Amino acid sequence: MPELPEVETIMTLVKCRVENKKIKKTKVINPKLRWPIETRKVKHLEGKTIKSVSRRGKYLIFKFKSQKEILIIHLGMTGIISFKKIEDYEKHKHDHLLIYFNDFVFIFNDVRKFGSIHISNDLNNMFLIKNLGVEPLSFDFNTEYLYQLSKKRSCTIKEFIMNQKIVVGVGNIYAAEALFLSKIHPAMRTNKLTLIKCKKLVSSIKNILSKAIKMGGTTIKDYVNAEGKPGYFTQELLIYQKDKCPIHKNNKVTNIKISGRASYFCDKCQIK
Ligand SMILES: [Zn+2]
Repeated sequence: MPELPEVETIMTLVKCRVENKKIKKTKVINPKLRWPIETRKVKHLEGKTIKSVSRRGKYLIFKFKSQKEILIIHLGMTGIISFKKIEDYEKHKHDHLLIYFNDFVFIFNDVRKFGSIHISNDLNNMFLIKNLGVEPLSFDFNTEYLYQLSKKRSCTIKEFIMNQKIVVGVGNIYAAEALFLSKIHPAMRTNKLTLIKCKKLVSSIKNILSKAIKMGGTTIKDYVNAEGKPGYFTQELLIYQKDKCPIHKNNKVTNIKISGRASYFCDKCQIK
């Protein structure tokens, strides 16, 4: 599943291709996604020029010149965006949406159909966007912000940082890595978090995500350009799905379930 760094990389690549380009035609091949594609609304985008492409959480946001409607795309678990020259396009199984530009076509393909495509007039109040927490790489995500919220919660710290209403984009892999770097036990209760640990956690989350974005750019190109071949980068992970702790070389990494998700940690580095 693409996490925030992958979506950021995809956003950058898509932006290079479509910004300031005019949509000639759209074609919904199969509307069945997590939420059905509203074909009529997508048709309204024909003749419109894309003003900007950005990211909010794991959503790609397309804004248009002289038009209020915004196109929002979520890749779900297996969503792929690819580009083809119009004459080279051949229909593939699981192609859902085609957007034609002057000389190329934008293809949204999704095998498992957990992705979604929406058109909204009011981004900030759109039902999937309005409750999203702060962006992890923004100034709004800081020690004070996280510390104040942590005092009010008693869930585990791993659930807390993965809660998209608190901060967006910290998925299972990055949560494990950030907690390892901060030497925090994933099952520790959130209200036990000290200010010092909180500071370390905020900087670990920012570091790991920025590093992943930097690395993602080079390996994910295939993903956007070619078809069908997953190119989500696998980064040098320290603890996630590892056998031994990189610090305590003989200590086996522990894997416990928190909210049904595998949670890897070192019981020597990360004491509760
Ligand atoms: Zn260790």
